[in-house]
Amino acid sequence: MLPELSKLIDVQELDKVIREVTQELDRLPEELKAGEAALEELQAAHAARLQEVEDLKAQRRDTELEMADMEEGIKTSRQRLMEIKSNIEYKAMLKEIAFKEDQRDQRETRTLELMDLMETQNRLIAELNGQMAEQETLLERLRQEVAVESEKFKKELDQLEEKRKKLRKGVPAALMKRYEFIRQRRNGTAIAPVQEGVCLGCHMNILPQQFIDLQKGLEILQCPHCQRILYWSGEEEAEPEAGRA
Ligand SMILES: [Zn+2]
Repeated sequence: MLPELSKLIDVQELDKVIREVTQELDRLPEELKAGEAALEELQAAHAARLQEVEDLKAQRRDTELEMADMEEGIKTSRQRLMEIKSNIEYKAMLKEIAFKEDQRDQRETRTLELMDLMETQNRLIAELNGQMAEQETLLERLRQEVAVESEKFKKELDQLEEKRKKLRKGVPAALMKRYEFIRQRRNGTAIAPVQEGVCLGCHMNILPQQFIDLQKGLEILQCPHCQRILYWSGEEEAEPEAGRA
C-alpha cells in the first residue's frame, strides 16, 4: 500500500473519534434542558399562586370595606329607630335593619372564606418554594457535572487535533483536500477498503482492471460508484469497520 494511503487511513480513524467526541460535547447542553424546563414550570406555577393571593387580598379588602359601610348604615338606622313614633314605620325600620345585618353577615362569611382560600394558596406556595429550591440544587449539580464533562471533552479534542496535525503532515496536500471533499459528502468515510473486488464503502463491485491496479498498490484509485478513495490491505485483513456508509 502507498504510505500516504496508510497515513490517510489513520487520519480517517482519528477524524471519526474527533467527530464522536464533538457530538458528545454538543449533546451536553441537551442534558440541562429537561431540568431547566422543570424549574421554569415550577416558577410559573409559583408566580400564578402569588397572583392568586394578591387577587384574594384585594377581594378581602373590598369585602371588609363593604362591611364597614354596612356597619355604619346599621348604626344610623338604629339611631333613627329611637326617633320613630309610628308603629308601622318602626316595624319597617326594624325590617330594614335586619336586612342590612343579613347583608353584613354574608360579607363576614365571605371574608372567612377568602382567608381560608389564602391559607390554602400560601401552603401551596410554601410547597412550591421547597420544590423550586430542590430543583435549583439539582440543576446546579447538573451544571457543574456538564461543565466538568465539557472541559474534559475539550481537552480531549485539543489533544486529538494536535495528533491530527502531526498525522496529516505525512499526507500530500492534494490528497488531503480530496479526502476532505469526499468525507463531507460520504458521512465521514472517505477512504474504504476493497474486498473481493467490492468497495466496502458502497458495497458495489469496482472494475476488474481497477482491482488489479489496486493490488499493485502504485496509484491512488477512487470507487467509480461512491468516489471513495480505495485501498487494498489483502483479503484476510479487510476492515469491516471502515465499510460503514
Ligand atoms: Zn464505493
